[in-house]
Amino acid sequence: MAWTQARRALGMNPSVIREILKISAKPGIISFAGGWPSAATFPLEAFEESCAAVLRDDGRAALQYSASEGFEPLREMVAASLPWQVNPADVLITTGSQQALDLLGKILIDEGSRVLVETPTYLGALQAFAPMEPDIVGVNSDADGIDVRDFASKADGARFLYALPNFQNPTGRTMSEARRRDLVARAQDTGVPIVEDNPYGDLWFDVPPPAPLTARNPEGCVYLGSFSKVLAPGLRLGYLVAPREIFPKLLHAKQASDLHTPNFNQRVVARLMESGFLERHIPSIRALYKAQRDTMLAALQREMARLDVTWNEPAGGMFLWVRLPSGMDAGRLLPHAVDNGVAFVAGSPFFSNAPDPATMRLSFVTASVEQIDVGIAALAKTIREHQGAK
Ligand code: PMP
Repeated sequence: MAWTQARRALGMNPSVIREILKISAKPGIISFAGGWPSAATFPLEAFEESCAAVLRDDGRAALQYSASEGFEPLREMVAASLPWQVNPADVLITTGSQQALDLLGKILIDEGSRVLVETPTYLGALQAFAPMEPDIVGVNSDADGIDVRDFASKADGARFLYALPNFQNPTGRTMSEARRRDLVARAQDTGVPIVEDNPYGDLWFDVPPPAPLTARNPEGCVYLGSFSKVLAPGLRLGYLVAPREIFPKLLHAKQASDLHTPNFNQRVVARLMESGFLERHIPSIRALYKAQRDTMLAALQREMARLDVTWNEPAGGMFLWVRLPSGMDAGRLLPHAVDNGVAFVAGSPFFSNAPDPATMRLSFVTASVEQIDVGIAALAKTIREHQGAK
């Protein structure tokens, strides 16, 4: 038997992060590695009630096949929850926003198509686009997000720009109001569509982030949202809002992929939303994550200020971004950190080109505040032990 694999299969590789998660799942390791929400926030009782109500009132419909577009009341509530005028007919419920990335890759990318991404960017998007064999081009980015001039200089012929304006994965940074305005204007000038991925936007700590890019030009953007970070990722429930021009193709791609997103899950979440549960629940996640961020920032200050290590102060989300003293390599440090009982994700895989090996991503939400203190101390110890060696 000879299995000949399609060329696109060469682009399908394991996520480095999922591999690291295996290491950090070892007992006793404090992990800042995963992009996992805090399981303490999962609203078990509310789910128990909502699941029971769905089974009791609509059980047979909930367990049947259903429309590929999604459960109508959920589409309506998603549309109503967004801060610009959205027609529910433009909302496609997806199996996580990861599926939206996969569908967009399938309908927008040919072999060699230019796709612009932030530097660094979400690894899972690179993974979703890779089988379509795009020419991924990194756009320079700083603490305020995408460098709009660099974007414009690379825009020619690009199929789309993939942008993460709020509490970005991996860096935790947020795009400023001025950048958003400029970026949308330049995207319109150059005719480059924007794919705006916003799974973390509701997790702000002090003030909400500026309005989404899509709100400023809905015809030129696809917007991706998710219930993973505000309810539970195991639901695999996300959505996209797309212009009429491409919505039907996304729908057809979804039909081919999974027919529809689990109907039962959609109805359970629709029930929760109907009762106003999310408005009560999300503030409790914000408060918890803010306390965890503050604990990590204080621990970094205490343990690393003298080590020539730098980090940012994200205004929401789950991640912060650390740069080791130049010359150090976070990937090489990782096994030693694990020996000392702490794990993180090295920054390099998040770069589409020219990685910065001194960077790492730390999640502040998976570990408890007590663990954060112990874990950051262990990380500082590892850095000290290897600083001379480099
Ligand atoms: N986009 C970004 C930026 C993410 O960080 C994640 C989750 N790690 C996803 C999309 C996928 O999320 P989900 O499929 O759970 O909605």
